Amino acid sequence: MASVLVHQLVKSFNNVHAVHDVGFKVNDGEFVFFLGPSGCGKTTTLRMIAGLLMPTSGRIEIGGRNVTFLRPRHRNVGMVFQQNVLYPHMSVADNLAYPLKVRGFTRKEVREKLGEVAERLRIADVLDRMPDELSGGQSQRVAIGRMLVRQADVFLMDEAISHLDAKLRAHMRTELRHLQKTLGVTTLFVSHDQLEAMSMGDRILVMNDGAIQQFGTPQEVFDRPANRFVAGFVGEPHMNILPAEIRHEGARPVARWAGGAMPLPDLPHGLVEGSLVDVGIRPEHVVLAAPSRTNAGHGNVEALEPLGAECLVTVQAGGQTLRARLPAVRADRLGFDVGAAVSLQFPRDHIYLFDKAG
Ligand code: ADP
Ligand code: MG
Repeated sequence: MASVLVHQLVKSFNNVHAVHDVGFKVNDGEFVFFLGPSGCGKTTTLRMIAGLLMPTSGRIEIGGRNVTFLRPRHRNVGMVFQQNVLYPHMSVADNLAYPLKVRGFTRKEVREKLGEVAERLRIADVLDRMPDELSGGQSQRVAIGRMLVRQADVFLMDEAISHLDAKLRAHMRTELRHLQKTLGVTTLFVSHDQLEAMSMGDRILVMNDGAIQQFGTPQEVFDRPANRFVAGFVGEPHMNILPAEIRHEGARPVARWAGGAMPLPDLPHGLVEGSLVDVGIRPEHVVLAAPSRTNAGHGNVEALEPLGAECLVTVQAGGQTLRARLPAVRADRLGFDVGAAVSLQFPRDHIYLFDKAG
């Protein structure tokens, strides 16, 4: 077990700056997610930590030891990637046992460890099979098992459960979280799936364009997004982002936007009359009501999507599209149809203001 320190890490491929100046510290025993859109540099960062790719510049330490230029096998890290190769001539059980046998575990110890991992990963019934007799999901779980049984200092996983079917993925989320906590092994997990990151991670490192946008707990990233990118990326459906101008109308500042004027909380430092901002509001906080003279906003219903207990309503307002998520019973009571006029309210406590520059 060990901490992982990354300092001013840079990787360029010819003209492509895949990772620029990335720095962070993962504590011993932590489960950290790299979350970001495709191409933002997650895999490149992880591969440098694994030792599969040499950085252009920067430093990597594992457990306080500078490993920047060490080969993978001298870093004592376990890895699982999206495509994994099992030893084709060995049964599943032997694939799992191999890392233990080479480290001198007794047969009894091997049997016990295998039993537990196989049970947890739901591969107990395929232990006698050969790799070419497994489904994609099964071989992926065997690869995860092979990583888990060995005593690595750090686990590195890249989209390791992304292509399992939905039900198995949900199961694996719970099990991996449990196993990681039980084993206490520092784990770095790359994902583009925010549900995975939010439900499993102790902390999430949000990346975009080769750079870190925010590093915080799931709650922090959700409640206090550091910038517009994080606000728009985290949360499903995404936060509404509405361009607006700060005005003082009456006692309070308002944000004048295409659909109306919304009362604001106290202005953050640097925002004054006339400042151009993006106003962020999550779909679950947009309040829809029957048309009234409320001046926060007016629009028309463009689409209604029932989601079981909730309903997602898309509204067009002054050329802007925004979404509201409300309990299905409330949507029923309002009885909107597509095309209906609605008024919009934005509770002040749930408004985020982003400087245009930010
Ligand atoms: P992610 O895992 O977040 O989807 P990657 O780390 O794979 O992103 O890629 C980051 C950027 O680096 C992308 O623009 C990608 O095209 C580029 N890249 C990655 N690997 C190579 C490579 N071997 N050669 C050239 N460009 C690469
Ligand atoms: Mg990737």
